Amino acid sequence: QAENLNTPIISEEGINMLIQLIKLMKAETVLEIGSAIGYSAIRIALATEAKIVTIEKDSASYQLAVDNIAKCRMTERITILNQDALDVELNQKFDLLFIDAAKSQYLRFLEHFKDNLVSGSVVVCDNLLFHGMVENPDSARSKRTKDLVKKIAKFNQELINHPDFETYIYEIGDGLSISIRK
Ligand code: MG
Repeated sequence: QAENLNTPIISEEGINMLIQLIKLMKAETVLEIGSAIGYSAIRIALATEAKIVTIEKDSASYQLAVDNIAKCRMTERITILNQDALDVELNQKFDLLFIDAAKSQYLRFLEHFKDNLVSGSVVVCDNLLFHGMVENPDSARSKRTKDLVKKIAKFNQELINHPDFETYIYEIGDGLSISIRK
C-alpha cells in the first residue's frame, strides 16, 4: 500500500533497529509523531509488548492507518490521533518518542513533547541523512529540497548539542538518531 500510494515508510533496517531498542529498553509506552499509513506503529505492536500512541495530521493517511490497525487487530494497543502533533497535549509519560513526520518541524516536536519524557527515555528520529543529501547538499535538485536538507542539517546539530539529551546519529536506513533524555 505504501508503494502504491508513494508514501514513504521507514526502512527495514530502521524499523528493526527501533524494535530492538524497544525490546532492549523494555519500553512499555511509545509515542510516534507521523503515523502515515500506520506501518511502523503496527510493526512495533506486532513485535513488542509496547502500547503506542501515534499522531497523524493528514486525514487521508489517518483513515488508512485506522483501517490497517483494525485489520491487524491492534486497536487495543495502538491509539491514533488525527491532529497536528503540536496541538496535542498529553499528560502521560513515554519511554520512547519516535519522530518521523514533517522534517522541518523536528525541533518543535521534540520541545513540545520533552516533558512527556522521563530521565532515561529515548528519542529516535528518522530521515536525518535524507537520502545522503544532508552530507552532500549539492545533490539536492530543487531549491525546496535544498532548503529542507539545510533544515535537517541544522536540526541534527541542535539535537547533538541539546543539553537535555545525549545523542548519536547513525547511518541506518535513511539516518536514525538515538537520544537519551538526561
Ligand atoms: Mg521516515
